[in-house]
Amino acid sequence: MRWRSNAHVEGIYAAGDVANHFHPVCGRLIRVEHWHNAIHQGRAAARSMLGKREPYAEVPWFWSDQYDYNVQYAGCHSDWDDLVVRGSLDQRTCVVFYLQEQRIAVAVAFNRGKDMPRVMRLLKARVQVDPAALRDENVDLRSLLPGAKPVRTPQPRIVPRPVAPLSEEVR
Ligand SMILES: Cc1cc2nc3c(=O)[nH]c(=O)nc-3n(C[C@H](O)[C@H](O)[C@H](O)COP(=O)(O)OP(=O)(O)OC[C@H]3O[C@@H](n4cnc5c(N)ncnc54)[C@H](O)[C@@H]3O)c2cc1C
Repeated sequence: MRWRSNAHVEGIYAAGDVANHFHPVCGRLIRVEHWHNAIHQGRAAARSMLGKREPYAEVPWFWSDQYDYNVQYAGCHSDWDDLVVRGSLDQRTCVVFYLQEQRIAVAVAFNRGKDMPRVMRLLKARVQVDPAALRDENVDLRSLLPGAKPVRTPQPRIVPRPVAPLSEEVR
C-alpha cells in the first residue's frame, strides 16, 4: 500500500508498517517498520484527512537497548562512500556517520542518544558536511546547519570571593 494520504483511492489512508511512500529526504520509496514512524505517520494521516496535505518527511529513527548499550539509528540505509566516527568506537560511545557525497545518509549512535536530535536536523537538512568537522568532538553539530548562529560554549562560572573587611588602619 502506498502512503500519500489518499494516494490511490479517495478516502483510504495508510500509516505505519504497511505504508509504502516516497520519502523526500531518502529520495525513494520506503516502508519503515518502527514505532516512531507509526506514531508520526498516523498523525500526518490525520492531518491529511483534515485537509492539511504535506509530504511526510520525518526522518526514520529507532532505538534499542542491547545489554549495556543504547543503540539509535536515524536515516535510511542505501549507499555510502565514507564512514566517519565521532567519539570512541572501542568504548562504544560514538556516533557513526554513513556519508554519501558528504551528506549524512545514516547515523548510528552507541550510548550517545543526546546527539541524535542534532544529528537528525543535519540529516533532514541534506547539507554537505565536512567529515573532519563531524569527527571533531570540539565542533558543535549545531554549527554545521545552514544559517547556524554562533554556538555559545559553556563558560566557567565565576564565583565571587568574599572580600575581607577593611582594617581600621586602611579606613
Ligand atoms: C518482536 C518485535 C519487536 C519490535 N521492536 C521494536 C523496537 O524495539 N523499536 C521499534 O521502533 N519498533 C519495533 N518493532 C516494530 C514496531 O512494533 C512496529 O513498527 C509498530 O508496531 C507498527 O505499528 P503499526 O500500527 O503500523 O502496526 P501494528 O502495531 O502491527 O498494528 C496493526 C494492527 O492491525 C491489526 N490488524 C491486522 N489486520 C487486521 C484486519 N484485517 N482487521 C483489523 N485489524 C487488523 C493488528 O492486529 C494490529 O493490532 C518491533 C516489532 C516486533 C514484531
